[in-house]
Amino acid sequence: MSEIVFLGTAGGRMVVTSQLRKSGGMWLELNGKRIVLDPGPGCLLRCVELGIDPAGIDCIVLSHKHIDHSNDVNIMIEAMSGGGFKPKGILIAPGDSLEGDDPVVLRYVRTYIKGNIKVLKESFRYSLGEVDIEAATKLEHSDVETYGLKFSFGGKTIGYIADTEYFDALPEAFKGCDYLIINMVRMTRVKMLQHLIPIDIINILKKARPGVAILNHFGMQVVKASPEAVAKKIEAESGVRTIAAGDGMRLDLGKVPERPKDMTLERFLG
Ligand SMILES: [Zn+2]
Repeated sequence: MSEIVFLGTAGGRMVVTSQLRKSGGMWLELNGKRIVLDPGPGCLLRCVELGIDPAGIDCIVLSHKHIDHSNDVNIMIEAMSGGGFKPKGILIAPGDSLEGDDPVVLRYVRTYIKGNIKVLKESFRYSLGEVDIEAATKLEHSDVETYGLKFSFGGKTIGYIADTEYFDALPEAFKGCDYLIINMVRMTRVKMLQHLIPIDIINILKKARPGVAILNHFGMQVVKASPEAVAKKIEAESGVRTIAAGDGMRLDLGKVPERPKDMTLERFLG
């Protein structure tokens, strides 16, 4: 079975630090390969809560080094490698997560996977068994190196548009995806913050035409607006089936996904 588990759907500083929504990134099981994508704060805890064995991970991928995407990278490497006693697994991360002034992957932890680290860059491609992992495009997000990714397996493709602002080549880079996960942190544009807002996502979907779009990584503006309500509006305007991810949501990649109930709004309204 292949599935995506949304460990947490929080994005942006206030939703993550208040845990109004859970955080921790995504767990992908694709043709038997287990991948953790953007292990933000709580990734290990959420795996355990959801009955996922972190020792079974084959690969950890960072789209970029911001703390809401990388906070648990070190402990997840430790978990993947049996506390360092059973070295295995691979880390895929941009160069500035690993080197430079402010790397986020601890050097002693790197020895747990015997330095089995692949540096994510433009035109990156790596085959993890039957799963092809590639950098779809470099993204435009703050001053950190950030990449959009594609995971292809058994004739299906999952695209992941991590944090970025809109740019003209963005939709083209994600054409032909069966599933397209898009981080939507904000409702209104602030140039400095470089995040996608709903109108950008409508533009992307009209051109990229994925089978299903899944919105994720919600900041406070989106939580207040209700991610599910925003997803319905985006679906109506783009003509592409669009759902909002929920904390702990499991997306069976063999089925057409159901629209999840809006739990966050209820929690938010008390
Ligand atoms: Zn970011």
